[in-house]
Amino acid sequence: VSESAVAAILRCVNFSAIKHRKQRRKDPQQTPYINHPIGVAYLLVEAGVKDVDVLQAALLHDTVEDTDTSPQELLDAFGPRVAGLVAEVTDDKSLPSKERKRLQIVHAADASHEAKLVKLADKLYNLRDLERCTPVGWTDTRVKEYFKWAAQVVAGCRGTNAYLEGELDKLFMKWNKEL
Ligand code: NDP
Ligand code: ZN
Repeated sequence: VSESAVAAILRCVNFSAIKHRKQRRKDPQQTPYINHPIGVAYLLVEAGVKDVDVLQAALLHDTVEDTDTSPQELLDAFGPRVAGLVAEVTDDKSLPSKERKRLQIVHAADASHEAKLVKLADKLYNLRDLERCTPVGWTDTRVKEYFKWAAQVVAGCRGTNAYLEGELDKLFMKWNKEL
């Protein structure tokens, strides 16, 4: 018998929680990092996404980039579709961070529909987080630069999900007024 959707999601959230257990977000409260992947997956639920592979990819989206998780581990545990989606949203950490940011803008439009869903939810979550409070050590200029960069990545992902893009637009409009 195949695994139920609920079991698949819980196995995935447990895997991600173990992998991210030592990490915290950059906010002054040092929120546990796992709140972020869970929140990104839940934004996709709110956006009407029912594809379990996409929800799993959201839960795992920062594991290869930010923990000791290998692409092979994801392939073995979650299969080629989920592992492929995570690979699509993973930056090449051997490149300097400025170059990684540039490549996200350049490559956004080439991503699959499913990877664009995860990218949109990830950016929405991070921008809402920045709006909630400024990360430790960040200047106002850095926050503004992050909004400008995120807007360029989002531009490459348009035409994917009306709810996520609408919520992002609300933030961008509010932000533009403050600039
Ligand atoms: P980032 O600018 O990439 O940090 C943002 C990332 O941190 C988010 O994408 C998110 O990624 C994660 N994150 C964790 N906690 C939070 C939170 N509370 N709110 C929002 N995001 C959070 O940091 P890097 O250290 O990678 O920055 C490198 C880049 O920053 C350089 O390329 C440079 O251009 C720029 N920079 C600018 C400065 C300035 O003053 N203008 C100074 C220094 C650097 P995830 O989804 O993966 O968790
Ligand atoms: Zn993320």
